[in-house]
Amino acid sequence: MSRRPIPRGEIVAATHNPGKLKELAALMEPLGFTVTSAGDAGLPEPEETETTFEGNADLKSVAAALGTGKIALSDDSGLAVEALDGAPGIYSARWAGPDKDFSVAMKKVEEALQAKSGPDGQIDRRAKFVCVLSLAGRTVKLKPSEGGGGSLGVAATGDRGFGYDPIFVADGQDITFGEMEPEKKHAMSHRAVAFAKLKARLENR
Ligand code: IMP
Repeated sequence: MSRRPIPRGEIVAATHNPGKLKELAALMEPLGFTVTSAGDAGLPEPEETETTFEGNADLKSVAAALGTGKIALSDDSGLAVEALDGAPGIYSARWAGPDKDFSVAMKKVEEALQAKSGPDGQIDRRAKFVCVLSLAGRTVKLKPSEGGGGSLGVAATGDRGFGYDPIFVADGQDITFGEMEPEKKHAMSHRAVAFAKLKARLENR
């Protein structure tokens, strides 16, 4: 069965997060899409009631598509810390509390890691960023080997990016995403890798 192409034109980014909107726009615009957002359209932020990244990604893209009548793209993402059994995971945004204060969330992560330190003071600081994209009800997710890996620094460093960027050092890098040029982060992040898979699917329709 051949699929109909997604028409180029306006696409609604199903997000109220300005950091994510900026990254999604930087990824979609070169493909000929004009990116607006669910926030700009005045839609309320849907409650993320699902228990998986895929479920929440779908819930957000469907809400934005129904609310605007346009094709919507969502991203559900989060930080999964190895020693914390994948927490904060789907609750990454919620760890920042109602004020969305990520200095609070990063402190919570560090405290939880310290509580896990072994008798020799060793702490496993490995973590990964997870990203699931949902375009018009189809999800794209990364296999564990496909990217998003890194480790966590002790202190928040750098004021670029958003969320947990100031504590995250991607594999093979020696500075945090918070210190990195945005273009460089955009070229290597979990979102960029998931997006490359989405792009390949769009081009092969
Ligand atoms: P949600 O997908 O809107 O539920 O929230 C994802 C949360 O994960 C964000 O609010 C950030 O805290 C975190 N997150 C996802 N992607 C990134 C990233 O690229 N950098 C830093 N934090 C991120």
